[in-house]
Amino acid sequence: LFDPAYLRDRIRTVPDWPEPGVQFRDITPLLQDPKSLRVLVEHFVFRYMDQKIDLVAGIDARGFIIGSILAHQLGLGFVPIRKKGKLPFTTIAEEYELEYGSATVEVHADACKQGDRVLLIDDLIATGGTMMAGRKLLERLGATVVEGCAIVDLPELGGSQLLRDSGLPLFTLVDFA
Ligand code: 5GP
Repeated sequence: LFDPAYLRDRIRTVPDWPEPGVQFRDITPLLQDPKSLRVLVEHFVFRYMDQKIDLVAGIDARGFIIGSILAHQLGLGFVPIRKKGKLPFTTIAEEYELEYGSATVEVHADACKQGDRVLLIDDLIATGGTMMAGRKLLERLGATVVEGCAIVDLPELGGSQLLRDSGLPLFTLVDFA
């Protein structure tokens, strides 16, 4: 059960979604299966339970699912990093490039304070653009991003290397070529 292969086997690959040529790694079967959800959470809890962390920040939308469970398990609060236009209070924003066009993520301006040690979580790292933008938001608020973590890494897209090269420690459980 604690072999990450157990989790890997519960991630479904959907060909040509959301567009032709993309192999989408769908984590919904993993979330739906009670054992794999528990194992997934325990992997993250064991890694972070003894670290000095003040907050968990999760990225819209699948980062909210795992991130909020993890925050609760660690006895910490949770901060959502959302797609543009969803947060009601004063926000700061980061725009980043996608393969076609760009995207923007936002966080509330009071989401964390100077010196906070934040764990940043999403479901998957592809080009790394989303996690890099999330990290920049938190750092602009004066926080330190202790580590980026995700269930899945797609190493061939180079995002995880880019993030590590930029000085962000990363923790992922499952690779897909
Ligand atoms: P990146 O910014 O690293 O290129 O893309 C990662 C972001 O896009 C994450 O927020 C992730 O949820 C989403 N994403 C991109 N490709 C996939 C995929 O194949 N499966 C899942 N579950 N999410 C993906």
